[in-house]
Amino acid sequence: MTKTLHHRACHLCEAICGLTIETTEVEGRVQITSIKGDAQDTFSRGHICPKAVALQDIQNDPDRLRQPMRRVGREWQPIEWEDAFNLVAERLAAIQKRHGQNAVAVYQGNPSVHNYGLMTHSNYFLGLLKTRNRFSATSVDQLPHHLTSHLMYGHGLLLPIPDIDHTDFMLILGGNPLASNGSIMTVPDVEKRLKAIQARGGKVVVVDPRRSETAAMADQHLFVRPGGDAALLFGLLNTLFAEGLTRDSHLPVDGLEEVRAAVASFTAEAMSPLCAVPAEQIRQLARDFAAAPTAVCYGRMGVSTQAFGTLCHWVVQLINLVTGNLDRVGGALCTEPAVDLVASTSGGHFNL
Ligand code: SF4
Repeated sequence: MTKTLHHRACHLCEAICGLTIETTEVEGRVQITSIKGDAQDTFSRGHICPKAVALQDIQNDPDRLRQPMRRVGREWQPIEWEDAFNLVAERLAAIQKRHGQNAVAVYQGNPSVHNYGLMTHSNYFLGLLKTRNRFSATSVDQLPHHLTSHLMYGHGLLLPIPDIDHTDFMLILGGNPLASNGSIMTVPDVEKRLKAIQARGGKVVVVDPRRSETAAMADQHLFVRPGGDAALLFGLLNTLFAEGLTRDSHLPVDGLEEVRAAVASFTAEAMSPLCAVPAEQIRQLARDFAAAPTAVCYGRMGVSTQAFGTLCHWVVQLINLVTGNLDRVGGALCTEPAVDLVASTSGGHFNL
């Protein structure tokens, strides 16, 4: 019996936790015998959740598919990989030739963006398919993030993320990181990281129509009317402008005066009936956010999958920008990923 330790990453979710996987070989057959969090991983620091522990059940399952299968009548027959690739290519080409490019649709699940191979190569394949029918975890719940980045920063994937490990004030809207393990911010062991904000004297504020797991551990929870987040955000932005709570950004910025004029009538008092948060609480939240040495406003799925999703994300970015927290330690930071899709892709389009 030979035991081997492998250091790998879990790509089931965005947290990308480091894993230590122990395999045992008995008479030429290799089995996973344990999966643990990798304490040597400087990012996840040993964190693991039950999903990764259960990976060994998938790997070891005797019914797991280990080669392509082709359906023939009511039967499934094993075929070689080469034959499977040829079959798929022939059928895709034939379908598109007969019914048009858009007759083929693609769905990419969440782990596909946590996988180097798919991240670096799927665009080439999808580019060849030339279908407009592309769906993914992105199209399900986060396109307002990308549209906002496309319009504000010139690239749909230039997504500033909260600097959770350095911020003094984290305002969360429409997100429940304790359940999601953090989304569009890549934070393994997010609970420990949120508690660390509180431990260093900072504050976590959650805006959510329900008392989520994250709201329950926050310093303050504001119950917002479902779909009322845009009104609350506009009330915050208006207060920042009206009460002189803004800070200059080191970034080159165009159009801020137009924004100031556009939101001039969206006072906390005017927005309060729309979001069901008292005006004084909206104003105080804006003051607390601006007074913190560093702060970050983070909006996620709950403020995306709603009628005003893009407006919400636009104002989230503006709040970070006008308080000087965009592209700043402790605020919202642009990333420097190993595979830089911002540098290597065109930036997308929204047929605007
Ligand atoms: S939080 Fe769980 S599912 Fe997500 S990367 Fe870590 S171990 Fe995997």
